[in-house]
Amino acid sequence: MLIAGNWKMHKGPAETAEFCHALRDRLTELVGVDVAVCPPFVSLSAAVTALAGTEIAVAAQNVHWEARGAFTGEVSAPMLLELGVYGTIVGHSERRQYFGETDESAARRAAAALEAGLFVIACVGELEGERERGETEDVLRRQVGALEAHENLVVAYEPVWAIGTGKTATPEQAQEAHAFIRTLIDVPVLYGGSVKPENAAELLAQPDVDGALVGGASLDVESFVAICEAAR
Ligand code: PEP
Repeated sequence: MLIAGNWKMHKGPAETAEFCHALRDRLTELVGVDVAVCPPFVSLSAAVTALAGTEIAVAAQNVHWEARGAFTGEVSAPMLLELGVYGTIVGHSERRQYFGETDESAARRAAAALEAGLFVIACVGELEGERERGETEDVLRRQVGALEAHENLVVAYEPVWAIGTGKTATPEQAQEAHAFIRTLIDVPVLYGGSVKPENAAELLAQPDVDGALVGGASLDVESFVAICEAAR
């Protein structure tokens, strides 16, 4: 079971250090749950330092597929590894919606990161209109089909209509999508989309839900810890 917190564009280095110190104090006896935080690039170093010597992993929110070169604004896998970063998210729906990320570019990022030795959380999920038109499986087939299974890859099923909206997929909707994803690729599948302390236990109890990617509720230590505890 993996619980990862996607901080998006929140928390600079000082706030990150403060959060991570509080988190390590609160998570001392959490057995059987892998925990990761995904701060913005500029705060990764502060997180790595504050969480040194703990089992809590630090992951980035994106990575480029080349190791170096003329790619202004991008960061490579070897650079993240040099910092002590353990993994990265790729293909988040906000990257797809606002920054032109495609299935192909997300898959290139995932493959390069895995090749370099990073753990990868690859995000997939349908838009609200796609679900309403009955296209969820087609979208997932296309998005997951771009990825290749790897021992350090997990997929995060994040229905776009449930991200940051307060609308959560029902446990049945999540289970149905996760079971379908499992027919496409043999890797663990996290659920993401308005996961909160109040709904985490029920979602995580579904047989094909292997953890959660948490956005808003991961920004507060107490609510993030409550979700980690629900996972246990
Ligand atoms: C996310 O950004 O990955 C996410 C699931 O966000 P939220 O939990 O805020 O819906």
